[in-house]
Amino acid sequence: TTTLQPLDASKLTIRRADPTAREVPDEDTACSGNETICTDHMITVTWDASSGWSAPELKPYGPLSLMPTASVLHYATECFEGLKAYRGYDGKLRLFRPDCNARRMLMSTLRISLPGFDPAELEKLIMALVAVDGTKWLPKSRPGSYLYLRPAVIGTQPQLGVQAPKEALLFITASFMPRMDTPPGGMKLHTNPEDMVRAWVGGFGYAKVGANYGPSLLATVEARERGFTQILWLYGPEGYCTEAGASNFFVVWRSKEGRLELVTAPLDDKLILDGVTRRSVVELARERLAGELEVVERRYTIDEVLEADREGRLVEAFAAGTAFFICPVSQIRHRDTDVHIPMGKGEIGQYTAKIKGWISDIMYGNEQHPWGVVV
Ligand code: PMP
Repeated sequence: TTTLQPLDASKLTIRRADPTAREVPDEDTACSGNETICTDHMITVTWDASSGWSAPELKPYGPLSLMPTASVLHYATECFEGLKAYRGYDGKLRLFRPDCNARRMLMSTLRISLPGFDPAELEKLIMALVAVDGTKWLPKSRPGSYLYLRPAVIGTQPQLGVQAPKEALLFITASFMPRMDTPPGGMKLHTNPEDMVRAWVGGFGYAKVGANYGPSLLATVEARERGFTQILWLYGPEGYCTEAGASNFFVVWRSKEGRLELVTAPLDDKLILDGVTRRSVVELARERLAGELEVVERRYTIDEVLEADREGRLVEAFAAGTAFFICPVSQIRHRDTDVHIPMGKGEIGQYTAKIKGWISDIMYGNEQHPWGVVV
């Protein structure tokens, strides 16, 4: 009997790209084209049902080879992660809570019948890629810069027919990503059209699978054409607020009883992604704003938001995620109603600004904290 090989980062082989072949492009130029500019290297690991995970390879960035019949191309057997490597103001390279991303990727992977792995090994592989490309692509002379890391797993078995793939590929790339934090005047959200939902009870909205994203583009493109940044995805006839585009969504309001609350959708409905930024907001606000503001994870509806607005109880709102980071929301349009949310001094509310500052300080090494993992 053969034993299946587990994912093992210690078996990583390294084949370096010619270091003189490519200079690091200017970030703004690199982000203005129609192609994501990746760093010099990537990591790939293959899996098959009879032997398990192969030895991971770190090698020059380049195309993958897939058969047209590969599972991923037909049955959306794909999941991914998104996190950043930050060049700190203290000169160090850091990841922010990479263990959360690694665990979430395992969860997503299993949701689509792709092979499991020890998330600690995935975390080591992510670190290895940053260790190799970070020095050149995030020079010490550019504190405050970052690279976007994209681990993914796909089903590669070249066989048509709806079945769990017997072959898979895990890969990790690092790239420039345009800075998206805070569009001028704040983020403007439009609620989804009534005939489109992002996630549903019993579905897979809580997993970071590609199948969640393609179908959301239609509503997003339409909203963009009307001047909105993202869709505020509502759920069900009650209109529960769930997520803002590919970010989690938070509201600061006064309850009818006058208590100051930071409200966000709960995880246990399995309608939203367990965002690393969301989790960090919730945990830090509970710890550092105790006594001042109560953090509430519960179902809440767009009507409650509209009512709070009418009664002058709406204080702030923001989106939270890796792409937009902590981004103040200035407007929500729901059907024919517009809610304008106070932005405060410097176009950011005081609680939004505080929370953003705390997390950013951990990411960039202004505060030493266990969430900032030095590479
Ligand atoms: N919701 C969705 C649907 C997302 O795709 C993302 C981005 N990963 C988030 C929320 C925010 O998650 P995170 O803070 O981990 O980036």
